[in-house]
Amino acid sequence: SQVLVAGLKRRTAVHLRDALFGRMQQADLDVFDRSPGGELANVFLVETYRSTLAIDALLGMLQRGSIALFYVAALFVLSWPLTLLVLGLTAALGGTIAFVHARLAQAGTDLADFNHRMAAALGQTFGGIRVVRAANAQAREAERFHALNVGQAGAEERSAHASSLLFPLTETLAVIGAMLIVGLAYLFLVSPGRMLGSYLLAYGFILLRLLPLLNQLYGLQGHLLYLAGGIREVQTWMQTPIFPPRPFGRIELADVRGDLRFERVTYRYPGGTLALKEVDLAVAAGRTTAIVGPSGSGKSTLAALLLRLRAPTSGRIVVNGLDYWDYTADSWHRAVALVEQEAFLFHGTLRENILYGVETADPGALARAIEIANLSDVVAGLPDGLDTLVGERGVMVSGGQRQRIAIARAIVRNPTVLILDEATSHLDAVSEQLVQSALRNAARGRTTLVIAHRLSTIRDSDHIVVLDAGRVVDEGTWESLAGRRGTFARLTRGLAGT
Ligand code: ADP
Repeated sequence: SQVLVAGLKRRTAVHLRDALFGRMQQADLDVFDRSPGGELANVFLVETYRSTLAIDALLGMLQRGSIALFYVAALFVLSWPLTLLVLGLTAALGGTIAFVHARLAQAGTDLADFNHRMAAALGQTFGGIRVVRAANAQAREAERFHALNVGQAGAEERSAHASSLLFPLTETLAVIGAMLIVGLAYLFLVSPGRMLGSYLLAYGFILLRLLPLLNQLYGLQGHLLYLAGGIREVQTWMQTPIFPPRPFGRIELADVRGDLRFERVTYRYPGGTLALKEVDLAVAAGRTTAIVGPSGSGKSTLAALLLRLRAPTSGRIVVNGLDYWDYTADSWHRAVALVEQEAFLFHGTLRENILYGVETADPGALARAIEIANLSDVVAGLPDGLDTLVGERGVMVSGGQRQRIAIARAIVRNPTVLILDEATSHLDAVSEQLVQSALRNAARGRTTLVIAHRLSTIRDSDHIVVLDAGRVVDEGTWESLAGRRGTFARLTRGLAGT
């Protein structure tokens, strides 16, 4: 049975973690905005493990339970009134130790809670280690961690205490119960001649075999209650809302031919913030449209909607005459690419990072992307060229280089629509020029939407859309907008001043 259980546990662990991974890959972005990464690691590593331990307990209960049933049946054959008494006493025993079970369940819930908080704290402290050090807050963080650490260990100790209470308690009560039963049987059944002494002997013998099983069953039940905290935690994560709320369509998007039209697009974050309000907007085919607006006006949200990272709460985006949600995920993400402010680099070679998701792209496309992104010099300067390890534990790349890697990553797919999130970070003049020229190269001939932070980009765009508090408040060319008062004038004055 141990071999079987080991196999079952392995399969369950693998299945559970795979299922959780699949679910989290589909989870709404909001889930990641709200939970620090450490919490996820905890549920994957600790709580799924605790959940598989429940298999031991469950199978143990099944095994012992079936043997116990067999004994109970035998007892019934020997004497049904006595056996009813045995069952009554067993139930009473369960009632007496219910408080221990409640303690175990509580300790299990507390442990899950502390695990969760400890993982979150670790993620925060070490994710924000620069801030912690700069604020000289190590002592405070250590204190906070210590409190959680003590709490977690305490929950484990409480469960051990409760468990240690269980066995002596059930053992003592069961032995007293058994003596009581045998005594009563002797007085009321054997003495008056209603039962043979040898029957009572057999009865007592089976009862003696049954008692340890009952103890073990109560013990396993307690253990299961203790593990339930971990199972609930896994279950909660398995129920995270998934994205997209409605599935993508089945139509293949060959090429984005005409304009992209936003029709009364509204977006409300799950937290309640109304980020876009009935936005009507046309992004002209083959041109560059700049989105400008104060911080928090909804520019990034607009880009996230177009990229299908979020779905409009109402309204739609029309592409080639159809709602953009009707196109397959594959064809949409090939056609529409994003250049983020700072490329997230995975641990791997530079080549793998650029070809992320399009590993089958031909070498010509890679070479072109590197050229367009002004990365040739960077590649030449790296110890192993394109095969140099970057990202975590790899060589360090500067902010400007990172952004050019993001450009190469977007361009290698040869997308028809490009979304550029222009960097707000201050690069030195040379890198800035390299990035800007790479962005201009990348945008050439494509339908481009730029979240613009620079006067030069805004001035060079074919069309400018001014957002304020989630609404389009103005749009036009530089010439038409420059003369008007309002958000645009305020913005450009601010940019010109920096
Ligand atoms: P911008 O890019 O113009 O600075 P955003 O699109 O980031 O503006 O934000 C628009 C509004 O939505 C702001 O009020 C912001 O606080 C809110 N917001 C942005 N991201 C989130 C998020 N992940 N969850 C909840 N609210 C958000």
